[in-house]
Amino acid sequence: MNTSEVDILIIGAGPSGCVAAGYLQQQGANIKVVEKSKFPRLVVGESLIPRVMDHFEEAGLLGNLDKQNFQKKPGARFIRGQVISIFDFSQKFGEGWDWTWQIPRADFDMVMAQTLIDKGVDISFETTVTAISFEGTNSVTTVVDKEGKESQIKAKFVIDSSGYGRVLPRLLHLDKPSKLNPHSAIFSHVKDINRPEGIEGTQISFDVLDTEVWLWVIPFSNGNTSLGIVADTAFIEKLAENGDTALALQRAIQLSDFYVKRFAGTEFLFEPIHLKNYSAAVTKMYGDGFALTGNSSEFLDPVFSSGVCFATESGILAAKLAWREINGEQIDWEKDFTQYMQRGIDVFTTYVKEWYTGNLQTLFFHRPENLDVKEKVCAVLAGYVWNEENPFVKKHNRVIRSIAYMLENNKELSDNIEKTY
Ligand code: FAD
Repeated sequence: MNTSEVDILIIGAGPSGCVAAGYLQQQGANIKVVEKSKFPRLVVGESLIPRVMDHFEEAGLLGNLDKQNFQKKPGARFIRGQVISIFDFSQKFGEGWDWTWQIPRADFDMVMAQTLIDKGVDISFETTVTAISFEGTNSVTTVVDKEGKESQIKAKFVIDSSGYGRVLPRLLHLDKPSKLNPHSAIFSHVKDINRPEGIEGTQISFDVLDTEVWLWVIPFSNGNTSLGIVADTAFIEKLAENGDTALALQRAIQLSDFYVKRFAGTEFLFEPIHLKNYSAAVTKMYGDGFALTGNSSEFLDPVFSSGVCFATESGILAAKLAWREINGEQIDWEKDFTQYMQRGIDVFTTYVKEWYTGNLQTLFFHRPENLDVKEKVCAVLAGYVWNEENPFVKKHNRVIRSIAYMLENNKELSDNIEKTY
């Protein structure tokens, strides 16, 4: 059997694997990426948040991505009935990027992978990891190519960025159920033939149809728009009860007063995909000689578009720590990887939970708006969830609940808000 040897093997060429590879290539590491599919490939996760721009920049990918004319995303709009809440990332608390992109992931991931290949990174597409064995931190990974030929890759470290493939969680039995209530989604793309002129046409929006039911509308610069319905699993199962996902998504569009005219009857560019109970978690995020990044470790919920951001944050961090370890440093993976990532995951977990309890929706849709609250929530929505100067990060556990309670009970926020901090 053919055997090769590298410093670091990366499984998966999604955003997590690509930023890890980009960083390591710049350090001069001997790396290899194995990717199961043939690119371009379809994957969900089309609304980015500004924090990812830091990661693309550090991984040397930003320049080429910026040349592609992807649709710029300067903020996000949340709609509930007649009330509209627009978050403008330039109005957020603290430092950080003011914009990002909304993107068809097939094209976006292809650009990242091609940029890496052009820089000399070895990516094997249509190559699937099937087994792994460890001896201390050294590992031997078995892969199968599209002709069915097996080979082995020896590595000093493995970064598992296999996303929904969850390669190491499966092979090493690290899966654990998510603490979030089960939610599911159905999504597809359409030719946006009724797209209005100007900002209305390109505005990314989340239309809240019920406390736990929302529709996403993500316009791309190629004229197509992504449409998706998210709800508790029982609701989605009922919507798609006869297995007809196109009919289910059409029904969902009918529920949206705001979008029904623009999208009713539109043909889907591919059969809508039903993603069931998508939240996932793991018992540990690292072990001797490996780290789990992106969706291979934890995935919460799409409502605040945090998935790719966690994928790139963890991908680049794992790459940095692995490279230092290979170069002889003692790394405290618990503190520097798990605990660091967990802090951000905990913040977003609170926001997701409080979205579905309705408390966060009270903050979003209460009128008049409180601009102090808004700029701090906006920084969280931009992905700056490690900035503990932001009380909406530091005290995430109680600040949303407290403010929602005050608003619902008509207490004057301007007098009391400091106390909730
Ligand atoms: P992926 O992008 O999944 O890439 C992993 C790669 O690994 C794939 O290319 C796969 O082919 C490869 N692979 C898998 N198995 C193997 C194997 N055995 N061997 C080799 N390679 C393998 N996130 C956002 O940021 N914004 C959103 O708007 C958003 N919307 C979402 C909507 C829904 C309904 C859901 C469920 C998720 C959404 N997400 C969103 C989350 C987003 O899809 C993921 O967080 C993101 O794609 C994770 O990136 P990744 O690099 O970890 O994995």
